[in-house]
Amino acid sequence: MTTTSEPEVDPGLDNFRSLVALQQPTWPDASALVAAREQLAASAPLVVPAASDTLRSRLAAASRGEAFLLQGGDCAETFAEANADRIRNKIRTILQMAVILTHGASMPVVKMGRMAGQYAKPRSSDDETRDGVTLPAYRGDMINGHAFTPGSRVPDPQRLVDAYRISAATWNVVRAFTTGGFADLRQVHEWNRGFMRNPAYARYERTASEIDRAIRFMDACGADFDALRTVEFFVSHEALVLDYERALTRFDSRTGDPYDTSGHFLWIGERTRQLDGAHVDFLSRIANPIGVKLGPTTSPDDALALARRLNPDDEPGRLTFITRMGAGRIREALPPLVEAVAREGITVTWVTDPMHGNTITSDSGYKTRRFDDVLDEVRGFFEVHRAAGTVPGGLHVELTGDDVTEVLGGSEEIDDAGLALRYETLVDPRLNHQQSLEMAFQVAEMLRR
Ligand code: PEP
Ligand code: MN
Repeated sequence: MTTTSEPEVDPGLDNFRSLVALQQPTWPDASALVAAREQLAASAPLVVPAASDTLRSRLAAASRGEAFLLQGGDCAETFAEANADRIRNKIRTILQMAVILTHGASMPVVKMGRMAGQYAKPRSSDDETRDGVTLPAYRGDMINGHAFTPGSRVPDPQRLVDAYRISAATWNVVRAFTTGGFADLRQVHEWNRGFMRNPAYARYERTASEIDRAIRFMDACGADFDALRTVEFFVSHEALVLDYERALTRFDSRTGDPYDTSGHFLWIGERTRQLDGAHVDFLSRIANPIGVKLGPTTSPDDALALARRLNPDDEPGRLTFITRMGAGRIREALPPLVEAVAREGITVTWVTDPMHGNTITSDSGYKTRRFDDVLDEVRGFFEVHRAAGTVPGGLHVELTGDDVTEVLGGSEEIDDAGLALRYETLVDPRLNHQQSLEMAFQVAEMLRR
């Protein structure tokens, strides 16, 4: 299929420019920004509208309890780590988790990376001060550099073009890993067997051996394993920098509808979800499936107003609410939202992000999270939905495929002193490979009915 390229100005799509856009960089050079936008507008789409439509139908199934979404990846991808090894490890981790969750849920798992575009971060402060020196905050590789030097922290519009180029290369590798033999179910299961050889995970033995028996059963029945050599995989990121998202928006030649082709799924963050703000306006006008993060201060009226604004036709799969309440608050904060949405007969795919409401600073000064808090929020999410008769549709996590030490706990017991060993994230702490698999085993048990 083809897409027509971006017209210079579209009154609807450019309406956001007259509204308040929070968390945008202050670009020092307007002409360089115009040049970067033009370069992006002339570039090929990263993903095609038809694939976003497929995802919308998968998310619609998740809203009905006929599928479960697994969305995972870095808090902030970096240009330096967009190499084949790191990408492969992340894909492997997500595929391993998906097999465990598929078994637990007895449902298809929709696999989506926070990948190929997750290069911009909202920040709580515009500046950062170290040893009496104040510089602009790091806003993600799409905007400025992480190094604490004046040159690196100046926003550079050329980084928008770099982000597109590196996202395209990342998506290319992701596609190769998810459609070649790498994604073969038997191969993924073999990796899970490797994980189970660690005695720390003995308590997951029962689930692991059930999966093992299920696969041998399929084999014995003559199941078509060739069909299981490929998986469907989608990419997503926070639609934060509107100049980037707008410049990659194209009109679908089939329908004339605009799609943001920077990713299959885009979400609005907790800090930029103002009803009269630029982000809500822009995302209301693109046809992709979209999400909104909802924190603990969200009122039922906020949720209903967002749903009506972003999905006026109540199209299933169009709107996902990603709740991030905190383990201590989800059991009180979530019920009024799910009850209001259900009462109004509004269709939403409910997903839990158990990471962003559970961020703490460790005694040694690291930004971290406790594995137990993360799991407790997921448990609370299932409890709330089961009590309300609504559908828990998915899980959104910050993870990496590598053996970093950023989140406290897990059966391998990363403690405060352990955080220093391999703390690599530039923004939020991620579950490491093993913690991610352990989480999948625990969530699989919650999914069993
Ligand atoms: C994030 O997903 O990295 C993030 C900043 O989340 P939130 O908008 O929920 O705070
Ligand atoms: Mn984050």
